[in-house]
Amino acid sequence: MEPYRITNVDDEKKIIIAERTEGDCFTTPLTRTDIEVLEVIKKREYDQLRLNYGSVRVTESVYGYLLKSPQKTLKQKEVKLPPLPFMTKAVWLQASLTDIKGDLAGGLHGAEHLLIAVTPLLAMCDRWDIGGVSIEKRENEIYIYDGYPGGIGIAERLYTHFKQLVEKALEIGVNCSCYTGCPRCIISPKCGNNNEPLDKGAALTILKTIYNQVGNKNGEDG
Ligand SMILES: [Zn+2]
Ligand SMILES: [Zn+2]
Repeated sequence: MEPYRITNVDDEKKIIIAERTEGDCFTTPLTRTDIEVLEVIKKREYDQLRLNYGSVRVTESVYGYLLKSPQKTLKQKEVKLPPLPFMTKAVWLQASLTDIKGDLAGGLHGAEHLLIAVTPLLAMCDRWDIGGVSIEKRENEIYIYDGYPGGIGIAERLYTHFKQLVEKALEIGVNCSCYTGCPRCIISPKCGNNNEPLDKGAALTILKTIYNQVGNKNGEDG
Protein backbone atom coordinates (compact mmCIF):
# COMPACT_ATOMS: atom_id res chain seq x y z
CA MET A 1 0.00 0.00 0.00
CA GLU A 2 1.30 3.46 -0.90
CA PRO A 3 0.83 6.13 1.79
CA TYR A 4 -1.22 9.25 1.01
CA ARG A 5 -1.76 12.38 3.04
CA ILE A 6 -5.01 14.36 3.05
CA THR A 7 -4.20 18.03 2.41
CA ASN A 8 -7.65 19.55 2.07
CA VAL A 9 -11.28 18.68 2.78
CA ASP A 10 -13.98 20.79 1.16
CA ASP A 11 -17.28 19.92 2.87
CA GLU A 12 -19.39 22.04 0.53
CA LYS A 13 -18.05 20.71 -2.76
CA LYS A 14 -17.53 17.25 -1.21
CA ILE A 15 -13.94 17.11 -2.43
CA ILE A 16 -11.01 15.57 -0.56
CA ILE A 17 -7.51 16.26 -1.85
CA ALA A 18 -4.77 13.73 -1.11
CA GLU A 19 -1.10 13.64 -2.10
CA ARG A 20 1.56 10.94 -2.08
CA THR A 21 3.74 11.05 0.98
CA GLU A 22 6.82 9.37 2.39
CA GLY A 23 7.34 7.91 5.81
CA ASP A 24 5.42 5.55 8.03
CA CYS A 25 3.04 7.90 9.86
CA PHE A 26 -0.66 7.15 9.77
CA THR A 27 -3.86 8.40 11.36
CA THR A 28 -6.63 6.66 13.27
CA PRO A 29 -10.03 8.26 13.83
CA LEU A 30 -11.40 8.89 17.32
CA THR A 31 -15.08 8.03 17.34
CA ARG A 32 -17.91 7.99 19.79
CA THR A 33 -20.68 5.49 19.14
CA ASP A 34 -24.14 5.72 20.62
CA ILE A 35 -26.54 2.86 20.21
CA GLU A 36 -30.27 2.81 20.79
CA VAL A 37 -32.38 -0.34 20.79
CA LEU A 38 -35.42 -0.01 18.52
CA GLU A 39 -36.78 -3.55 18.69
CA VAL A 40 -35.81 -6.82 20.34
CA ILE A 41 -36.56 -9.51 17.73
CA LYS A 42 -35.26 -12.57 19.60
CA LYS A 43 -33.86 -13.10 23.05
CA ARG A 44 -32.49 -15.88 25.22
CA GLU A 45 -32.45 -15.78 28.99
CA TYR A 46 -29.77 -17.44 31.09
CA ASP A 47 -29.35 -17.31 34.87
CA GLN A 48 -27.53 -13.98 35.02
CA LEU A 49 -27.43 -13.03 31.40
CA ARG A 50 -29.71 -12.05 28.56
CA LEU A 51 -28.74 -12.36 24.91
CA ASN A 52 -30.68 -10.27 22.40
CA TYR A 53 -30.91 -9.85 18.68
CA GLY A 54 -32.76 -6.92 17.15
CA SER A 55 -32.88 -3.58 15.39
CA VAL A 56 -30.81 -0.69 16.64
CA ARG A 57 -29.94 2.85 15.66
CA VAL A 58 -26.17 3.42 15.69
CA THR A 59 -24.82 6.97 15.71
CA GLU A 60 -21.12 7.24 14.99
CA SER A 61 -19.48 10.61 15.57
CA VAL A 62 -15.89 11.24 14.59
CA TYR A 63 -14.55 13.87 16.99
CA GLY A 64 -10.87 13.78 16.12
CA TYR A 65 -7.94 11.72 15.01
CA LEU A 66 -4.50 10.66 16.17
CA LEU A 67 -1.38 11.03 14.09
CA LYS A 68 0.81 8.06 14.86
CA SER A 69 4.16 6.56 14.03
CA PRO A 70 4.47 2.79 14.47
CA GLN A 71 5.97 3.44 17.91
CA LYS A 72 3.85 6.20 19.40
CA THR A 73 1.12 8.81 19.09
CA LEU A 74 2.56 12.03 17.70
CA LYS A 75 -0.43 14.32 18.07
CA GLN A 76 -4.16 14.47 18.60
CA LYS A 77 -6.42 16.73 16.53
CA GLU A 78 -10.07 17.60 17.08
CA VAL A 79 -12.49 17.77 14.17
CA LYS A 80 -16.13 18.76 13.89
CA LEU A 81 -18.12 16.41 11.69
CA PRO A 82 -21.84 15.75 11.67
CA PRO A 83 -22.86 12.47 13.39
CA LEU A 84 -23.82 9.63 11.06
CA PRO A 85 -26.85 7.70 12.31
CA PHE A 86 -27.94 4.48 10.62
CA MET A 87 -30.31 1.64 11.37
CA THR A 88 -28.92 -1.85 11.49
CA LYS A 89 -29.14 -5.17 13.34
CA ALA A 90 -27.17 -6.05 16.45
CA VAL A 91 -26.60 -8.85 18.89
CA TRP A 92 -26.09 -7.71 22.47
CA LEU A 93 -25.77 -9.20 25.88
CA GLN A 94 -26.74 -7.82 29.25
CA ALA A 95 -25.17 -9.28 32.36
CA SER A 96 -24.90 -8.22 35.98
CA LEU A 97 -21.19 -9.29 36.29
CA THR A 98 -20.41 -8.91 39.94
CA ASP A 99 -17.04 -10.08 41.38
CA ILE A 100 -14.93 -9.05 38.38
CA LYS A 101 -11.39 -8.25 39.58
CA GLY A 102 -9.65 -5.41 37.79
CA ASP A 103 -11.17 -2.68 35.69
CA LEU A 104 -14.73 -3.56 34.68
CA ALA A 105 -14.91 -0.99 31.83
CA GLY A 106 -11.54 -2.18 30.49
CA GLY A 107 -12.68 -5.79 30.80
CA LEU A 108 -15.93 -5.21 28.91
CA HIS A 109 -14.08 -3.30 26.21
CA GLY A 110 -11.46 -6.08 25.90
CA ALA A 111 -14.15 -8.77 25.76
CA GLU A 112 -15.91 -6.77 23.02
CA HIS A 113 -12.66 -6.61 21.00
CA LEU A 114 -12.08 -10.36 21.35
CA LEU A 115 -15.63 -11.18 20.29
CA ILE A 116 -15.26 -8.92 17.24
CA ALA A 117 -11.85 -10.42 16.41
CA VAL A 118 -13.32 -13.92 16.07
CA THR A 119 -16.50 -12.88 14.24
CA PRO A 120 -14.96 -13.55 10.78
CA LEU A 121 -14.50 -17.21 11.80
CA LEU A 122 -18.25 -17.62 12.22
CA ALA A 123 -19.89 -15.14 9.90
CA MET A 124 -17.85 -15.03 6.68
CA CYS A 125 -17.10 -11.35 7.06
CA ASP A 126 -14.21 -9.07 7.80
CA ARG A 127 -13.74 -7.46 11.24
CA TRP A 128 -14.15 -4.10 9.47
CA ASP A 129 -17.74 -5.09 8.58
CA ILE A 130 -18.86 -4.90 12.18
CA GLY A 131 -18.69 -2.53 15.10
CA GLY A 132 -18.97 -2.82 18.83
CA VAL A 133 -19.88 -0.85 21.91
CA SER A 134 -19.50 -1.85 25.54
CA ILE A 135 -21.32 -0.05 28.31
CA GLU A 136 -20.60 -0.37 32.00
CA LYS A 137 -23.71 0.02 34.08
CA ARG A 138 -25.90 -1.99 36.45
CA GLU A 139 -26.66 -4.46 33.65
CA ASN A 140 -23.37 -4.37 31.76
CA GLU A 141 -23.81 -4.49 28.03
CA ILE A 142 -21.74 -5.53 25.02
CA TYR A 143 -23.15 -4.80 21.55
CA ILE A 144 -21.87 -6.13 18.25
CA TYR A 145 -23.57 -4.51 15.29
CA ASP A 146 -23.66 -5.05 11.58
CA GLY A 147 -21.78 -2.17 9.95
CA TYR A 148 -24.10 -1.98 6.96
CA PRO A 149 -27.38 -0.03 7.03
CA GLY A 150 -30.21 -2.52 7.45
CA GLY A 151 -27.75 -5.29 8.32
CA ILE A 152 -26.53 -8.10 6.08
CA GLY A 153 -27.20 -11.03 8.39
CA ILE A 154 -23.97 -10.96 10.42
CA ALA A 155 -25.61 -10.14 13.76
CA GLU A 156 -28.26 -12.83 13.42
CA ARG A 157 -25.59 -15.43 12.66
CA LEU A 158 -23.66 -14.37 15.74
CA TYR A 159 -26.81 -14.67 17.82
CA THR A 160 -27.38 -18.22 16.55
CA HIS A 161 -23.76 -19.25 17.14
CA PHE A 162 -23.10 -17.16 20.23
CA LYS A 163 -21.72 -20.06 22.27
CA GLN A 164 -19.04 -20.82 19.66
CA LEU A 165 -18.27 -17.11 19.36
CA VAL A 166 -17.53 -16.80 23.09
CA GLU A 167 -15.58 -20.07 23.05
CA LYS A 168 -13.30 -18.88 20.23
CA ALA A 169 -12.84 -15.43 21.79
CA LEU A 170 -11.80 -17.05 25.05
CA GLU A 171 -9.41 -19.42 23.26
CA ILE A 172 -7.57 -16.52 21.62
CA GLY A 173 -7.34 -14.53 24.85
CA VAL A 174 -6.19 -17.45 27.00
CA ASN A 175 -3.67 -18.77 24.46
CA CYS A 176 -2.00 -15.40 23.92
CA SER A 177 1.09 -15.30 26.11
CA CYS A 178 1.14 -11.52 26.58
CA TYR A 179 0.30 -10.09 30.02
CA THR A 180 -1.55 -6.88 29.43
CA GLY A 181 -2.89 -7.31 25.90
CA CYS A 182 -1.39 -7.12 22.42
CA PRO A 183 -2.58 -6.88 18.79
CA ARG A 184 -2.93 -10.68 18.66
CA CYS A 185 -5.60 -10.58 21.38
CA ILE A 186 -7.41 -7.55 22.84
CA ILE A 187 -5.79 -4.62 20.99
CA SER A 188 -7.91 -3.78 17.95
CA PRO A 189 -6.69 -1.93 14.84
CA LYS A 190 -10.12 -0.34 14.39
CA CYS A 191 -10.86 0.83 17.92
CA GLY A 192 -12.34 4.33 17.92
CA ASN A 193 -11.20 4.85 21.53
CA ASN A 194 -7.51 4.33 20.87
CA ASN A 195 -7.75 1.00 22.74
CA GLU A 196 -8.55 2.62 26.08
CA PRO A 197 -9.42 1.41 28.62
CA LEU A 198 -8.43 -2.26 28.29
CA ASP A 199 -7.91 -4.87 31.00
CA LYS A 200 -6.98 -8.31 29.70
CA GLY A 201 -7.42 -10.16 33.00
CA ALA A 202 -10.90 -8.70 33.51
CA ALA A 203 -11.80 -9.39 29.84
CA LEU A 204 -10.96 -13.08 30.26
CA THR A 205 -12.90 -13.33 33.52
CA ILE A 206 -15.92 -11.72 31.84
CA LEU A 207 -15.74 -14.09 28.86
CA LYS A 208 -15.40 -17.10 31.20
CA THR A 209 -18.44 -15.91 33.16
CA ILE A 210 -20.41 -15.52 29.93
CA TYR A 211 -19.23 -18.90 28.66
CA ASN A 212 -20.26 -20.61 31.88
CA GLN A 213 -23.74 -19.25 31.30
CA VAL A 214 -24.19 -19.83 27.58
CA GLY A 215 -22.01 -22.95 27.44
CA ASN A 216 -24.12 -25.09 29.74
CA LYS A 217 -27.35 -24.95 27.89
CA ASN A 218 -28.36 -23.76 24.51
CA GLY A 219 -30.95 -21.40 25.88
CA GLU A 220 -34.52 -20.94 24.87
CA ASP A 221 -35.58 -18.28 22.44
CA GLY A 222 -38.25 -16.19 24.04
ZN1 LIG B 1 -1.98 -10.82 23.54
ZN1 LIG C 1 -12.50 -0.45 21.21
